[in-house]
Amino acid sequence: MTGNAEIERWLREAKQKGIFDSIEKVDEISNILGIERFLYPASVQRTNKETYALIKVNGDDMLGVFCRGMKPAGFHGHEKSFNGLKILICPLVHENAVILRSVLPFTAPCTLSKRDTTFGVGDRLGIATPGHIQIFKRYKASPVFAQQSVREITLTQRSFEDVLDSATWACFREGFNKPWGADGDHLKTEDQVKKVLSIGYTMVTADVSDYIRGEYTSKDNSDVIASYKNLSSGYRKVIEKRYLSSQVNLDSGQTITFSEEELGRAALIYGEALEHARRLYEAGNEVRGERDFDFELSIDETSTPTTPLAHVFIAKELERIGIKVISIAPRFVGEFQKGIDYIGDLKEFEESFRVHAAIAGKFGYKISIHSGSDKFLVFPVIGRITGGRFHIKTAGTNWLEALKIISRKDPSLFKFLYKYAQQKFGDAQKYYHITPDQSALPSVSAVDDSKLPDLFSNSDVRQVLHVTYGEMLKDTGIKKKIFMVLGKYKEDYWQALGEHIGKHLDLLNVPLAAS
Ligand code: ZN
Repeated sequence: MTGNAEIERWLREAKQKGIFDSIEKVDEISNILGIERFLYPASVQRTNKETYALIKVNGDDMLGVFCRGMKPAGFHGHEKSFNGLKILICPLVHENAVILRSVLPFTAPCTLSKRDTTFGVGDRLGIATPGHIQIFKRYKASPVFAQQSVREITLTQRSFEDVLDSATWACFREGFNKPWGADGDHLKTEDQVKKVLSIGYTMVTADVSDYIRGEYTSKDNSDVIASYKNLSSGYRKVIEKRYLSSQVNLDSGQTITFSEEELGRAALIYGEALEHARRLYEAGNEVRGERDFDFELSIDETSTPTTPLAHVFIAKELERIGIKVISIAPRFVGEFQKGIDYIGDLKEFEESFRVHAAIAGKFGYKISIHSGSDKFLVFPVIGRITGGRFHIKTAGTNWLEALKIISRKDPSLFKFLYKYAQQKFGDAQKYYHITPDQSALPSVSAVDDSKLPDLFSNSDVRQVLHVTYGEMLKDTGIKKKIFMVLGKYKEDYWQALGEHIGKHLDLLNVPLAAS
């Protein structure tokens, strides 16, 4: 359906919802408003006084606010009127997103503390959310649409505002009225925490890795005891009383007890990190006040796996110092590298994951799995052991799906990007822990155009393309070409995302939502 027929359909739907009660002629209003594609039907929302819809004006998506009488305060845009109907046509800019979130609360993120199954889908390009929405309409899982780390924000030259606004506009456009979250991911400073919460994020992932003293992992007992004795006697007294005389029994069958040396080691490795977590948590409370926010603690970006004893120590310390976490992301055994499947022994993973999940269950928070893109081997284990109570974060895979679309639709641009990624990999690698074999990368010039999408089943290719997004996007010429192709084929991109993230959810055994 194109042209007038399509406009007429939209108008009919709009009229059914009571927007244009006195307007009959499509041509007339289109001429007056200069609106070519009239409105996105799913976006139409009516409040007491106004009607809101996403409309297309001269090729650009705009927010249309339709009202009779007083126009709502705050929106930036220009006004047109027709038969007493005022229409405010507003660009999709930050100021307008802020007001829309307060007028239509479903376009704002909320805390997901009551939701068992939560799933983060980082959208580095800011165009993936309509695709993600189609998935989360289908599955019984709550999405975190806005989720970017400080590292991603820096590398993509975006802002936390822009990331949140992209999700808001997409929820508005699709009329997505289920709860969704916004996660300031891997935040390290109090200022970062305050910043994201003050602009409306509802989740903070505190990254305390800079304060984890990993060097104590491998020190001799005598060194550990000597260093431990240097900690303040008040602190030692408190933790010795709390840990040395008691044990923690887990549902998974294990009992965790602490020797003096083990306690000392845990305190030395994690004591400062916990102190920093408390500072970040308090910074959050200062901004959010009485309103809740979801606080996740991430200790995943360390070189050694988190032991059950360390996990129990952290859980009990958080309780002692009054930090309520929604989830903790431990560092699991094996490798969770970006954008590729799990590397390691599955049996070993299952045994260790069972203990971590039991600790999380005992202390009343969820286990969080970072770098969750494409970890198909371990998803069934995670789904089964947690019974669906988990948080998973993905990001890179959404970017790789975008590149895969480019490989299908614009082979020559893809070949260029591939070679560019190979050149720039050295610069990009310092931000990520990954180990692709660069010498094993296929030469893209030799690949037939129709076979380019197959390259995405090669782990080395995936990793190189995964981490070089910052290099590609910081070149404005390249960025423009990427967005042009994806803009033209966005429906294909969204469909691919639906299938790919859907595969994640299926393997995690997430049930379909009742329709
Ligand atoms: Zn992480």
